[in-house]
Amino acid sequence: MSLRRKIMLLGLVAIAGMCLALWLQYMSYVGQSRSIEAVARNVKTVGSLSHATHQLQKERGLTTINLAKANSQAITEQIRQTDAALARLAATGVHIDGLDNTLLQLRAAARTRGAEQLAIRDDYTKLLQGLIDEMNQMISAPGMNIAKANISAHTHLVAAKEYLGQTRASLGYAIDLKHAEDQVMRSLIRLKSLYDEELRKFELEASPALHEIFGTQFAGLEVAKTMDIMAQIAATGKLPPALDVQTWWSMATTAIDRLNLIEDHSLKMIEQHAESELAQLQRGMHLRALTTLAICFAVLVLAVSATVTLLRALERALTSMEIIASSQDFRSRIPADSPDEIGRMSRSFNQLLDIAERLLKDKDFLATTDSLTGINNRWRFSKVFGEEAEMKRRSKAPMALVLFDVDHFKHINDTAGHLVGDEVLKALTSLVKREIRATEFFARWGGEEFVLLLRDDGCEAAIAVAEKLRNLIASQDFPGVGKVTCSFGVTAWQQDDSETSLVARADKALFEAKKGGRNQVKHA
Ligand code: GH3
Ligand code: MG
Ligand code: MG
Repeated sequence: MSLRRKIMLLGLVAIAGMCLALWLQYMSYVGQSRSIEAVARNVKTVGSLSHATHQLQKERGLTTINLAKANSQAITEQIRQTDAALARLAATGVHIDGLDNTLLQLRAAARTRGAEQLAIRDDYTKLLQGLIDEMNQMISAPGMNIAKANISAHTHLVAAKEYLGQTRASLGYAIDLKHAEDQVMRSLIRLKSLYDEELRKFELEASPALHEIFGTQFAGLEVAKTMDIMAQIAATGKLPPALDVQTWWSMATTAIDRLNLIEDHSLKMIEQHAESELAQLQRGMHLRALTTLAICFAVLVLAVSATVTLLRALERALTSMEIIASSQDFRSRIPADSPDEIGRMSRSFNQLLDIAERLLKDKDFLATTDSLTGINNRWRFSKVFGEEAEMKRRSKAPMALVLFDVDHFKHINDTAGHLVGDEVLKALTSLVKREIRATEFFARWGGEEFVLLLRDDGCEAAIAVAEKLRNLIASQDFPGVGKVTCSFGVTAWQQDDSETSLVARADKALFEAKKGGRNQVKHA
């Protein structure tokens, strides 16, 4: 798999990962939003339960008293209010098993008057307990730790109000009978202590604002009297003298109504508190979602731009390398100015090109140059001759070859030594090189034999050049050996000549020169 594909695959995996992260964030957002909505709904339901409890408590109190009295308008009105509160509760989706039926039976039993008062009151209390249990369940539902302290204070207030409601009903009943059975009295004392306990807990947990509301609302003569009577009963174990049902009912109801008012305030505060906490939660969620989105986007943009830049640079470097490799133009260099890894790779590639170029130059030099004299070798001569012959065949221009050989060179070696012989060959080539024109191609044919390719000359001119060289060499003094002469064979190039045929003719002329006594020019 190509690098580009791998990077693209990696990019796709990264994008999929980011999408997954965003999706999970979104799902958690949706989940939290739902539980936030559920919490808001629960707070409202707690309000409806509170209200229904209050109305049912009132109905319990009135019904218990009413059993001993004539059927009053008040009970009918209260039943209407209880039903309205229960309808409002049902509208919030709360359904308490058997509540409606039990209530209908209770009301019917109360109307027949034959029913046991205490039993009816206890049955009402059971129904109320059902509502309070439901409220407690709502409060302990997941997510309701929002405004937890306020909610907890609220439940203690509801419980305190319920014990006060039970006290109102029980004491009303006892006053009605003019005496309290032991069991009723014990129950009143127990209710008082339960009421105190719940209020104490409420005061512990209520916020300063709720405290203040409690202080101002749970006050007044009637409230004080109600509390006094409850305290007296708890202290003496006796019913207060000269207290009639109506008075007790009215003062206890005022106290309960006050508690109910405080309950309403408490609910409002819970709602406000929950709303502000929920709004804060939502803001936090939005911020987190936006931050995740922004980070994902930034990472994506950075990753894409880095990948595209990298791939482009890589593509450029690769294309340059491929062009150089296919053209074998090792003198070219690829752009290597970027400071990154691709720049490093390109610089290393260019260094390899430097080495390759140098090696090729060395190889060319070694392949075409005679190591002793530094002039062209026989291999180079063949190459140049091939190119020249090709051109001459087209242009029909003249060309001539001079082949010359040092006379009695073996004798020089034998008498002066091989190294001196080498020096003679070097001195002789420098002498010739200095004398010939730039267009004339000079090479060592082998041993002490040399060729000169006269690119633009015919036979006559070539003989003149050979003669000039022969004179020059012969007039020269060579260190360690003195005079040295050469014999020359000259021939003009013919259209159908090959290298072999041309050199063979020159060699023949050279042989004639040797035979003729050396140090002379012959042509063929
Ligand atoms: P002639 O006049 O007939 O050419 O006689 P010659 O002695 O020059 O010819 P011969 O072919 O007998 O000897 C050539 C000698 O050149 C033999 C060989 O050792 C010597 N020679 C060939 N190449 C070199 C070289 O590179 N250096 C030295 N010092 N001697 C070389
Ligand atoms: Mg020779
Ligand atoms: Mg010789």
